[in-house]
Amino acid sequence: MQPHFKGWHPGIRSLLGDISPTFWPLYEATEGRWQNDSDCVLIGDAAHAMMPFAAQGAAMAIEDAFELAGLLSREEAASALPRFEAERSARIAKIRKRGAFNRFAYHARGPIRIGRDIVLSMKPPQSLAADLDWIYGYRSPG
Ligand SMILES: Cc1cc2nc3c(=O)[nH]c(=O)nc-3n(C[C@H](O)[C@H](O)[C@H](O)COP(=O)(O)OP(=O)(O)OC[C@H]3O[C@@H](n4cnc5c(N)ncnc54)[C@H](O)[C@@H]3O)c2cc1C
Repeated sequence: MQPHFKGWHPGIRSLLGDISPTFWPLYEATEGRWQNDSDCVLIGDAAHAMMPFAAQGAAMAIEDAFELAGLLSREEAASALPRFEAERSARIAKIRKRGAFNRFAYHARGPIRIGRDIVLSMKPPQSLAADLDWIYGYRSPG
């Protein structure tokens, strides 16, 4: 890492000298059912671990818990669990897709990076925020 940080403050370079970088593998759970139509259900990463580029994995686990609790308070597990999986999987898939897009955009190089920066510099902050309302403004059906 030292060559990439050669122009940086000596304190930063000294910190980098004290660490031994390693790989941190990231895994996804992309296939498989989350529940057994009866009495067993997975939520959060156990059901649908995703790449972190939309920063939403933990948020999805929290939404899962809230929505599952609501369903189980209204109906039997045998019908609540399949409904939970059906209702949540569409949102999870959409968030996963957004993460893949972010990964592409954040790591863009060359002309694509220049294009990305031009688009971002032309967009007003309100418009950028509004594009993400469906993520951050989500209101769970409970
Ligand atoms: C680099 C990175 C950045 C991220 N950034 C964000 C972010 O900004 N925002 C966001 O919302 N999400 C983010 N996430 C995703 C988030 O960390 C996960 O989606 C979230 O922690 C999943 O929560 P969980 O409770 O489902 O699973 P976990 O957090 O994995 O919890 C499962 C727990 O079960 C325990 N466990 C496992 N097996 C057993 C066993 N047999 N008995 C007892 N306990 C057991 C584990 O030790 C663990 O504590 C990020 C993830 C990564 C990797």
